[in-house]
Amino acid sequence: MDFKDYRGIWVFIEIKDGKVAPVSLELLGAGRELADKRKTDLAGLIIGNDVEKYVTTLYEHGADLVYMYEDEIFNHYRTESYMRAVFDCSEKHKPEVILYGATPNGKDLASAVATDLPTGLTADTTILDIEEDTGLLLASRPAFGGNIMATILCKKYRPQMATVRPKVMKALTPDVNRVGTLIKETIDLKEDDIRTKVLEIVRETTRNASIDEADIIVAGGKGLGSKNGFQLIHQFAEVLGAAVGASRDVVEAGWVGHHHQVGQTGLTVTPKIYFAIGISGAIQHIVGMQNSGLIIAINKDPDAPIFQTCHYGIVGEAAEVVPLLIKAFEEALNRRVSHA
Ligand code: FAD
Repeated sequence: MDFKDYRGIWVFIEIKDGKVAPVSLELLGAGRELADKRKTDLAGLIIGNDVEKYVTTLYEHGADLVYMYEDEIFNHYRTESYMRAVFDCSEKHKPEVILYGATPNGKDLASAVATDLPTGLTADTTILDIEEDTGLLLASRPAFGGNIMATILCKKYRPQMATVRPKVMKALTPDVNRVGTLIKETIDLKEDDIRTKVLEIVRETTRNASIDEADIIVAGGKGLGSKNGFQLIHQFAEVLGAAVGASRDVVEAGWVGHHHQVGQTGLTVTPKIYFAIGISGAIQHIVGMQNSGLIIAINKDPDAPIFQTCHYGIVGEAAEVVPLLIKAFEEALNRRVSHA
């Protein structure tokens, strides 16, 4: 493998709910810095059906080039079809780095591509840098229970690949005057070549609303006592129109699904308001929510570590404090409606 053949920083562009996923724009921001350091191009790789309409947005957010695979076969994300396209493009154009959002689809795709190319993959990166002279990607992530940061290198293979957590990198302010080059790619792929068929897409209900884009999160921990006790969190979230978050211990106890987990092995979130109720504040939880705008903790132990991180703290029993908050917010919201 001659590393001199590999040039350019690529970002896999994910489309979510008819828009470029915020994490893809964040990665274009981070990728721009890497590309400038290496004096090379930043490219977006977009795969889908009817996706040319997104290309201008990618230029505006820092891309010099866009590689596009546009075909009906890419209408829905499927591992096999998308993996074939990334593989094909990478073999043709030989990027030095490919970045993916650490979303369910991004993680799935990156790990499949890593086995096929084959190359290494650093998962769940939170800090990115690159050596100017060697092009070695420095992908850092929390390790050993979140107590240290490990910087992972891929010294022997190219492209170097990493999935990067949503909301940790910054998207550039869009520059409407930026232009770039579109490279349309095709691949010989037939429906019969793909084993997976998308039969139906089922949207999650409000109760399971996604925490990664919510403005308000009400998160509960083992302090709620039981799955039944955790219903208080759902009730409070419903009143506020918030998403439900949870500690890992709650997820492991089966009170809610893994997609509610905040923290090192869950999601990183940055809502405007984060309620941490009956959550001790272990470092592995804190790393996933510490950048929230306003953190309000409720815990019966005045020495709980969460009180070191929160902006406001209430020392008390969740079963007593939360119903009072629910009542107060219901009344305040009703007053607002009646004044409107
Ligand atoms: P506990 O630690 O049991 O804390 C419960 C809290 O509730 C206590 O502070 C207690 O004072 C309070 N409380 C009890 N009763 C009441 C009451 N009636 N009213 C009010 N307060 C009450 N954790 C995560 O959350 N996310 C992760 O992504 C994650 N990843 C991890 C990765 C690794 C490699 C490891 C080793 C651990 C990870 N953990 C993670 C686990 C983490 O270390 C903690 O064990 C976990 O966060 C604790 O969950 P908790 O705060 O709900 O429970």
